[in-house]
Amino acid sequence: MSSSSSRSSSWSPSFGGGGGGGAYDGHGSPVPYRVGPLDYQPETKCYCNVKACQWISWSFKNPGMRYLKCQKARTDADCGFFRWVDLDYSDSAFFKQLLNDMRGAIWDLRKVVAQKDARLCANDTELKLMHKQLHDHMKLVEAKDMCMHDLEAKMKKKDRYIGMLVWMCVFLSVALIAIVFKVKLA
Ligand SMILES: [Zn+2]
Repeated sequence: MSSSSSRSSSWSPSFGGGGGGGAYDGHGSPVPYRVGPLDYQPETKCYCNVKACQWISWSFKNPGMRYLKCQKARTDADCGFFRWVDLDYSDSAFFKQLLNDMRGAIWDLRKVVAQKDARLCANDTELKLMHKQLHDHMKLVEAKDMCMHDLEAKMKKKDRYIGMLVWMCVFLSVALIAIVFKVKLA
């Protein structure tokens, strides 16, 4: 029994099973697989006589076309089996579902982008507000700095006056003492 039977219908390939092509050369399908590569029916066997994997092509030439390949494809043991499941776009139910899935995936992506845009815009507004607050704060600090500078200058001026006053007092005291002595001696 294949272990693939337990896989969910939203199976997504972890490597490039979907083929390349187009501008995006990343790995994997643009939409989750509804049927796992080994969950399809009826079973088709490759030249190794084991169930072949069913992938969806995302090449530029055959987008959305399902194909079968050996399970050991991309390894040295690849038997080289390859067969298209969809020979043309006549399976309208499958392609309708696929296009709907892609539409959903694009809408989801647009929602994510819109949410990120809104978050970015909010962050930008917050950043601008913070910048303004910082600017105002710096202006305040500058004003306080100038005030401190003025105060320092005033203090220095006052210190000089006090020094002069002390010297004048000393001079007057000495002069007074000298006069008193002179009067006593006379
Ligand atoms: Zn094989």
